[in-house]
Amino acid sequence: MDHFHYRDGVLHVEDVALPTIAEAVGTPVYVYSTATFRRHAQVFRDALKGAGRVHLAYAIKANPNVAVLRVLADEGYGADVVSAGEMARALAAGIPASDIVFSGVGKTRDELACALDAGIGQFNLELEEEGEVLAALARDRGIRAPAVLRVNPDVDAGTHAKISTGRKENKFGVPIDQAPAMFDRLSKHEGLDLRGVAIHIGSQLADLAPLEAAYARIGELVAELRAAGHVISRVDLGGGLGVPYKPDDVLPSPADYGAMVARATAGWDVELMFEPGRVIAGNAGVLLTKVIWVKPGVTNPYVIVDAAMNDLARVAMYDAYHDFVAVEPGGERMTANIAGPVCETGDTFAMGRDIDVVKSGDLGVFRTAGAYGATMASTYNSRALVPEVLVDGDRFAVVADRIEPETILAAERVPEWLKR
Ligand SMILES: *Cc1c(COP(=O)(O)O)cnc(C)c1O
Repeated sequence: MDHFHYRDGVLHVEDVALPTIAEAVGTPVYVYSTATFRRHAQVFRDALKGAGRVHLAYAIKANPNVAVLRVLADEGYGADVVSAGEMARALAAGIPASDIVFSGVGKTRDELACALDAGIGQFNLELEEEGEVLAALARDRGIRAPAVLRVNPDVDAGTHAKISTGRKENKFGVPIDQAPAMFDRLSKHEGLDLRGVAIHIGSQLADLAPLEAAYARIGELVAELRAAGHVISRVDLGGGLGVPYKPDDVLPSPADYGAMVARATAGWDVELMFEPGRVIAGNAGVLLTKVIWVKPGVTNPYVIVDAAMNDLARVAMYDAYHDFVAVEPGGERMTANIAGPVCETGDTFAMGRDIDVVKSGDLGVFRTAGAYGATMASTYNSRALVPEVLVDGDRFAVVADRIEPETILAAERVPEWLKR
């Protein structure tokens, strides 16, 4: 459920009509619903009620806007971060350092040190050498770094190859068969407080079976580690739950997921950590855009909108589907291609799609754009960096400015020898 609906024929986000936002802020612009974020956060938490001790760390990379983080901090979520920049955002939003999990396959030594100094709650180690370096950094500071070892369970998540992370050839985690010996060696470092293991097998999972298979392997690993004398108090089950992008998509609900987790982890007796991203943010945002032209095409017309692949990269990157609807539909339909202004054929959002009839100057939205949307934006083709708006009831605020091309140009320099 979300809070995007038509009222008197005009698409609203909560109680705000989208034309009001387009007029005040311009287009393209991301628009988020506070109530939807809160609802998703609560539904996911409630779904895990039967799973024992649970720690929720929102995966910031899905939507790192500091106002969004503030909403989720209010809902009691910690954060899963993958860079010092994300860590700074989480802290700026008021998320306690002890509720932050630091993931990522390429944490630098500087990032590890900075996270230790901040008092980060858990480091998810991706390789043995990272554990050794972290242990040494912690020992220098007279502390022990709380950590878990991320394992790669060699399970195919059945999702797009670019967001699949748990097959043995992927760059993430240590091979599960090598994990017991590595855990043994790492646990001997006095600078490490090694508490358990972590997995994350991919994103936009449409089926619970791969997750359940991965959790079963982790359960066996936990038993094996305990048999070897290790104290295992935490297991991090990652994120990955998919969301519906198409109107007729049927995905496992958070409740289905929670029931599976309770079943798969029964008797583990650990604190379970979760890192949901997309399932919290995906359907909490839309990308609001204006039609520039309707250009006649050979087969179907091209609806050229003012949003492009630099604003929403998912279609070009993952062949993703984003539903497109008119803000003020007249009731008629047409078959059209939808594309942005960027000079790449890849800047095409849909081909031969049945959509509301639109004409130049009309507003439309790409739905389910709250996750992996603005966060992946670039300025390709010297376009502005897309702004973000947060709605709460009948009020809204710009929570990220449009960064104009002139501002970006001002950060560039012509060296002395090229000046004339
Ligand atoms: C991206 C990521 C997540 C979040 O994935 P979603 O599919 O958005 O839930 C969680 N954990 C790790 C380690 C990640 O890299």
